[in-house]
Amino acid sequence: MELITVKDKDYSGKRVFVRVDFNVPLDKNQNITDDTRIKAGLDTINYLSGQKAIVILASHLGRPKGKPEPSMSLLPVAKRLSELIGKQVKFATDCVGPEAKRIVDTARPGDIILLENLRFHEGEEANDENFSRSLAELADCYVNDAFGSSHRAHASIVGITNYLKDKAAGFLIEKEVDALSKLLENPTRPFLLIIGGAKVSDKIGMLKNLLDKVDTIITGGVMAYTFIRANNWETGNSKVEYDSIPLAKEIYKEIRKRHLEFHTPLDHVVADKIAEDAHYFTTERGTVPIGWIGVDIGPQALWEYTDCIKRAKTIFWNGPMGVFEIEPFAKGTIEIAKAIAESDAYAVIGGGDSIAAVNKAGVAHKISHICTGGGASLEFLEGKGLPGIDVLKK
Ligand code: AMP
Repeated sequence: MELITVKDKDYSGKRVFVRVDFNVPLDKNQNITDDTRIKAGLDTINYLSGQKAIVILASHLGRPKGKPEPSMSLLPVAKRLSELIGKQVKFATDCVGPEAKRIVDTARPGDIILLENLRFHEGEEANDENFSRSLAELADCYVNDAFGSSHRAHASIVGITNYLKDKAAGFLIEKEVDALSKLLENPTRPFLLIIGGAKVSDKIGMLKNLLDKVDTIITGGVMAYTFIRANNWETGNSKVEYDSIPLAKEIYKEIRKRHLEFHTPLDHVVADKIAEDAHYFTTERGTVPIGWIGVDIGPQALWEYTDCIKRAKTIFWNGPMGVFEIEPFAKGTIEIAKAIAESDAYAVIGGGDSIAAVNKAGVAHKISHICTGGGASLEFLEGKGLPGIDVLKK
C-alpha cells in the first residue's frame, strides 16, 4: 500500500496540523505512567520542527464524552513532551477557537504547540463538519501519525482532510502500515498466526481474513475454548464466547478445505477460580474437566506451540495464552513471548496484553515490529479499509 508521506513534501514555514495518539495512561495525580505513545510520535515531530514548520499537535485522551474534563487534560503530556524534545512545547487550553488561533498566530517556524484534548468537543467523535473546519482553519497542511486511532472516522482523522487537501502520513503510520502490509502481501512461508485473549468477536474476523495467507494457526485463551466448544468438546466452566461459535464452526470448515494446520491446546492448566489463591492442576488432555476453568495452556501444548514457532518464517501474535496477569497462569504466555523472540521469523505483535507479555519477558527489543494500535491493526488485517489510512493513499 503506497501512502503520501511527510518525506514527499516541503513544510518549511507552513503551519502543520499533526494528529498524534497521546492517549497515555495517567494515575490519579495525573502523572503519566507509560510514555511509550509520546515517544512513538517523536520522529515525525522532530522532523517537521527541523523543517521549520509550525507543528500543531492534536490528540484525544480517555473518553471525556464531548465536554471538558480536567482529569483528562493533555497538559501533563505537554510537559513530558517538552522534556523529551528538550524544548518548550506551547499548550493551548482549547483545540479550536480564539485561544488555539492566538497561540498558532504568535508561533514561529520550528515551534511545537499541543492543543487540548480533541474529545472535549462532541464534534470530534461525530466527525462534525463545522468542528472539522474549525480544526482545519488552524493550519495549511495535515499529517496523521495516530495509527491507533485511524480506524475511527473522527473529525481530526477524516473530516479535517475535506478542508486541508495537503495531507500525508507521518513516520509512525508509515512504519505500521509497512509492517502489517508485509503480512498480507507475500509473507515468507510458513506463516504462523498465534491468536489468544478474551475478546473473540474482535479477532475472529481477522482470523477469517487471514485463512488465505497463513499456513498454521495456534490458539489460546478464550479463543481456544470457543473453538474447543464449537467441536462439542468439554470446556467445563471455562470462558467461552458462545455468540462466536457459528463463525468458529464455519472457520473449521474453511480450515479443512485449505488443509491448514490448526491447533487448540493439547493440555491445560485448570483452576477452580480466576484468582491468586485458586486451586489448580494440569490436565492430561485437550478438554477441560467439568467444574474447572481453563486458565493457561499446559506443557504439552507449549512444547507443540514452540515447535510451530521454530518452524515459522512469518509470525503474527495477538492475545495471551491464558490469564497471564495471575502468576501461576502466566507461563504459557511468557514462554510463547520468549520463543517468538528467539525465532528468526519476521514477527509482528499486536494487542496491549501481548505487548505487556513481551515486556514482562524482557524480550521486546528482539521482536521485528510491535504495533502501537491493537484495534487498528486487527481491522487492518481483517481487510477492512481504515478510514484514516484510506484518505492518505497515493
Ligand atoms: P484480549 O484483550 O482479547 O487480548 O484479552 C486479554 C485478556 O484475556 C487478559 O486480560 C487475559 O487475562 C484474558 N484471558 C486469557 N485467557 C483467558 C482464559 N482462559 N479465561 C479468561 N480470560 C482469559
